[in-house]
Amino acid sequence: MTEPAEEKTLAEAAPSRFECRSCGYVYEPDKGDSGQNVPAGTKFEDLPENWRCPVCGARRNVFDDIGAINAPSGFQENLSYGFGVNRLTPKQKNILIFGALGLGFLMFISLYGLG
Ligand SMILES: [Zn+2]
Repeated sequence: MTEPAEEKTLAEAAPSRFECRSCGYVYEPDKGDSGQNVPAGTKFEDLPENWRCPVCGARRNVFDDIGAINAPSGFQENLSYGFGVNRLTPKQKNILIFGALGLGFLMFISLYGLG
């Protein structure tokens, strides 16, 4: 089994940023760290073992994963579990709409009958 291409693309498009717990510096993979010869686009996981926080010199294990900008996981969640109506076919939508109208009409009739 191979992973769906979309997931890989999303992960590559938005790698996680990492924040230094010691000083608050945020390593952004999009920018890299020019001061330590880390080219832009380098993921935090791919940084060299001896990489240190450029601000306070903390080691890599002091950094916390704070997620990507526009976290793709949330986006995917919305696609899968968001409003189910978006996944219906036009025919199914019509059934839903006319079903709701019919229900409203029946409620109106019953209220009218009570009056
Ligand atoms: Zn730091």
